[in-house]
Amino acid sequence: AALVDHPLLEGLNDPQRAAVTHAGAPLLVVAGAGSGKTRVLTRRIAWLINERKAHPGSILAITFTNKAAAEMKERVQELVGNRARIMWVSTFHSSCVRILRKEIDRVGFKSSFSIYDAADSKRLMTLVLRDLELDPKRYQPNAVLNWVSDQKNELRDPEDVTKEARNSFEEAYAKAYTHYQRRLRDANALDFDDLIMTTVHLLQAFPDVRENYRRRFRHVLVDEYQDTNHAQYSLIQQLCGQSFEQEDAAGERVEPSELMVVGDADQSIYAFRGADIRNILDFEQDFPDATTILLEQNYRSTQTILSAANAVIGNNRSRKPKRLWTDAGEGARIVGYVSDDEHDEARFVSQEIDTLVDDAGVRPADVAVFYRTNAQSRVFEEVFIRTGQPYKVVGGVRFYERKEVRDALAYLRVLVNTADEISLRRVLNTPKRGIGDRAEACIAALAERDRTTFWEALTRAAEAPGLATRSLKNIEAFVAIIQELQSMVEADERPDVILESVLERSGYLAELEASDDPQDDTRVENLAELVAVAREFAEDPQPGPSADPAEVEAGTVAVGLGDFLERVALVADADQIPDSPDGDDSGVVTLMTLHTAKGLEFPVVFLTGLEDGVFPHQRSLGDQPELEEERRLAYVGLTRAQQRLYVSRALVRSAWGAPSHNPASRFLDELPVDLVDWRRTAAEQTRWGRADHAGGSTRLGAPTEAGRRNFSSAALRADAAAKAKPAREIPSLAPGDRVLHDSFGMGTVVAVDGVAEKSVASIDFGSDGVKRLLLRYAPVEKL
Ligand code: ATP
Ligand code: MG
Repeated sequence: AALVDHPLLEGLNDPQRAAVTHAGAPLLVVAGAGSGKTRVLTRRIAWLINERKAHPGSILAITFTNKAAAEMKERVQELVGNRARIMWVSTFHSSCVRILRKEIDRVGFKSSFSIYDAADSKRLMTLVLRDLELDPKRYQPNAVLNWVSDQKNELRDPEDVTKEARNSFEEAYAKAYTHYQRRLRDANALDFDDLIMTTVHLLQAFPDVRENYRRRFRHVLVDEYQDTNHAQYSLIQQLCGQSFEQEDAAGERVEPSELMVVGDADQSIYAFRGADIRNILDFEQDFPDATTILLEQNYRSTQTILSAANAVIGNNRSRKPKRLWTDAGEGARIVGYVSDDEHDEARFVSQEIDTLVDDAGVRPADVAVFYRTNAQSRVFEEVFIRTGQPYKVVGGVRFYERKEVRDALAYLRVLVNTADEISLRRVLNTPKRGIGDRAEACIAALAERDRTTFWEALTRAAEAPGLATRSLKNIEAFVAIIQELQSMVEADERPDVILESVLERSGYLAELEASDDPQDDTRVENLAELVAVAREFAEDPQPGPSADPAEVEAGTVAVGLGDFLERVALVADADQIPDSPDGDDSGVVTLMTLHTAKGLEFPVVFLTGLEDGVFPHQRSLGDQPELEEERRLAYVGLTRAQQRLYVSRALVRSAWGAPSHNPASRFLDELPVDLVDWRRTAAEQTRWGRADHAGGSTRLGAPTEAGRRNFSSAALRADAAAKAKPAREIPSLAPGDRVLHDSFGMGTVVAVDGVAEKSVASIDFGSDGVKRLLLRYAPVEKL
């Protein structure tokens, strides 16, 4: 009863108080979303410092992101004051770096070790595979690296995997892993996964180091425990484990540290990075004297939102059922919206935000828009830029700042302006084509000597003193590709067609597609988005500020590549505007992927792109465990909302610029019907309203699939571009003619514009749609 009045226990229910004040045995708090797990963890830290007189330096708190760590630290400081400053609140990786900087000399590294990021690791693995003379087609750097990462997450070192290799394939992987580790060591470098594995190995191998940290960290607290992998789990065991001798080197008894972990198995969304849900399910087995506290009251959301989330997650078979209730009242019904396409969806979101701000006292900062993949942010960004609504994209680079988008645009800039040396140098060896720094320097020297442009020098590379024969050949090939693409620009080919050819002919796309790195999948998706942007522009050109008014009047606005680049430059420029120059964020809407949203909450949430093949993601559709992970992600998304929740989907979504008709997400079907107020249903939509997909149950090809298929046709088209026909071979076509195309098959000519070299035919290929093809390149034959 004395506890009731303590200020640090204010605003906590009984089980929450029990968790805050618990002392001794390991403590597991398992509870659904919004039940106050993070609040309890934070309060407990304050309690330990204030009431149990724990030294702040003896507390190690682990969160999932640096942002969460910063927030938690700030909150504890508010509660107990500045003393909390020296406390360790950080992610697993940062904690390990801090330990390693002090201790790593024990395992033969210098404390100044470098940390390799993904790009560095890839570069190194590429070298290793080359040295080992492994067939680059069978052994892709990213595939090997992913495998190595899995081994490290399981704490298997090269010796272990070498012993366990059962076939020549596994032997090769083990060998690559061995050499990769050796070269890292030679470079005094650790990759990301090494940080944790090395720390665990170090603590295992050196009892004195382990004891030192166990004496130091008397309290270890872990948030989002459901997303820990085996290596992270072992780290916690090393620091708090009871399976170890309880005496230090001097024979003194060391009390085990107090451990508290909080988590929710229903929110485990990182299995693809080796997170193991069993860590939470088996906690009681691993720590036999553990205490478990369940929290069942949700303080975040209305009953409507909670019922919706509970209904969806209830469809997962591999889970323990749990109760979660709220007394926040029914609240508003969920609003559902079926849009024509992704633009319509973004407009709906934007208009709805305006209405909420005007009529419901909502601040833009109260609003979050979630989507499944990074590339989906682009359409929202464009609408917000147009309407002047400030926004921020959390946890992702803004669309036009992404490396792959900038690379692609650099190619286009070179095509319209070879004097753009920055862009030219950016793409010269991107993707890698054997034109190294040395070769680049030789060309630069030639340009300097002859007072000419870098491009001019490239075209005369043979005269460059000191240039290696191999480099010369590679440069000549590069120049040929650029010149060939330039001829498409001269022929006034559409920007989207040119862009597709660029991605194809440059080898840029092939390199990404060959990779097994999930990040490269994202890059391919972003490039698909950029192609979609170009296609839209070509089909509905909006005159840029410098357009000739007379042309605008006459409806003959140019739609060339240069116009497209101008338009993009302006959008991209607007994109650079900082979120809030005056530091006031109240006017800023938040955009983020569902993965980034974990642990956060917002009064208003828009959950967008609820389409099978988008969310759940295409990859998961045929795979029960992956589908369940997607459903947990949906649960995370739904439970971020405090008061209002919107769910939306688009009937048609463009990927690679090719519209695909998407059926409703199965997660929408799992929402209880009486909870959702459909503002607009599939049956009401107009533009694409055809009975066969209005119901949302017909699968007409999921976006990725359709996009890829369409893109490979584009690839074929571009391939044909490589063999441009001499003028006399250009087929002369007239509307009504039947033609045969290498990849689209039979088609009927609808219209022909331009003459000779520049003639462009619009050809109807039935289910593949109407294509505009530059006849000089198109592999078409008149029948
Ligand atoms: P998630 O699983 O999404 O990470 P969580 O369990 O960590 O959620 P918190 O973020 O800690 O939940 O809490 C959700 C919201 O409920 C927060 O706004 C928090 O301040 C509030 N809250 C938690 N406990 C109480 C309580 N006893 N009384 C009032 N509000 C509470
Ligand atoms: Mg939390």
